[in-house]
Amino acid sequence: MNCLFCKIIAGDIPSAKVYEDDLVYAFRDIEPQAPVHILIIPKEHISSANELTDENASIVGHIFAVAAKIAKDEGIADGGYRIVNNCGDDGGQTVKHLHFHMLGGRSLAWPPG
Ligand code: 5GP
Ligand code: ZN
Repeated sequence: MNCLFCKIIAGDIPSAKVYEDDLVYAFRDIEPQAPVHILIIPKEHISSANELTDENASIVGHIFAVAAKIAKDEGIADGGYRIVNNCGDDGGQTVKHLHFHMLGGRSLAWPPG
């Protein structure tokens, strides 16, 4: 499949791995927007949040549990962080494989642009 993140999971494209288990893969964003900027993705190819159903949505809960673990490992659990999913063109999604950005290590502005 011609999907950048599927290639990263397969190891065909190198990435800075932060965490991996049977279901998810986490790695550092190539263009970090904060001192900690990690992408957490399901190993299953799901093209966006629009494709979540009762059958596959349990992965999202697992991703948030993994995020809590990563936050502790990265030292941002106490300071806080943001987890973002961009969906579709208006959401700013550029890679069509479901992913959650974990941003931390600095104070983040709100609302988003
Ligand atoms: P989106 O804009 O779809 O929400 O997020 C895609 C993210 O993937 C962007 O933050 C972008 O910097 C990151 N990205 C794109 N290509 C690569 C890559 O080859 N390696 C890594 N580590 N991150 C990438
Ligand atoms: Zn994919």
